[in-house]
Amino acid sequence: MSTSKSVEPATPERTQELLESLSEIRARVKAAAEASASPTLVAVSKIKPASDVLACYQHGQLDFGENYVQELEEKAQVLPADIRWHFIGTLQSNKAKTLAAIPNLWSVQTLGSVKAANALEKALPADRTLRVLIQVNTSGEGSKSGIPPLTSSSTLDDAELILLAKHVVAECPRLRLEGLMTIGSLELSLEASETEKNADFERLKETRDVLDKYLREAFPSETSKWGDQTSGKLLLSMGMSSDFEAALKAGSDIVRVGTGIFGQRPKKAAPQ
Ligand SMILES: *Cc1c(COP(=O)(O)O)cnc(C)c1O
Repeated sequence: MSTSKSVEPATPERTQELLESLSEIRARVKAAAEASASPTLVAVSKIKPASDVLACYQHGQLDFGENYVQELEEKAQVLPADIRWHFIGTLQSNKAKTLAAIPNLWSVQTLGSVKAANALEKALPADRTLRVLIQVNTSGEGSKSGIPPLTSSSTLDDAELILLAKHVVAECPRLRLEGLMTIGSLELSLEASETEKNADFERLKETRDVLDKYLREAFPSETSKWGDQTSGKLLLSMGMSSDFEAALKAGSDIVRVGTGIFGQRPKKAAPQ
């Protein structure tokens, strides 16, 4: 574990509060996950101070999620170099260079276009690989970014998601297509926790299965080029504070929890 020289530590009270909520969320993640699974808990620290991140890090938390490129860049500069930063905000091609220059950027979970893929690919040093997840708009809400999902009856060859996935696998040697990410509709997640399955999570799973089959057929000799580095599986990033347990029960590999760990965020006044 490396230490941080330039971050003022959180107060003892705040540290205690963070460790309690982090421990609770970890226990709930473990309880909701399938016995054989070890999902990744990404602590979403957007708008929260670097001292909060440091307190969680000192408690063994390595994965953190950020939404704003500049905020991520600033935190990465002052916080320990072995933190795994996940970019989960809206990805603009003109910010790709700044993102790609962050040495411990672990993944970009919000890839949504060939243009953005090319921008990242071009900005990365030749010896770097970066995990990317394609963001899927499972709920179809206009307010959500992402590409439409696939179903087993979709016409695949010219589906946007297929074209982007193929582009990353075939044309972007520095990007590794690790999986798919969705935000999902809050309404569905609230309803589903009362009753049964969350349709957004089911749609992301189906999209993953369809994509997996398609890629295996399209690149039969290159199946090591996508998915988790160890298992080869295309991962699912789904589930936030309000629905991560349901997401884990639906087979999520990566959950992104902000409020549940750090508490409520103030409304961010200005766009980044
Ligand atoms: C803010 C954010 C989260 C965390 O949301 P909470 O409800 O605070 O847990 C997760 N994913 C994305 C993409 C986010 O923007």
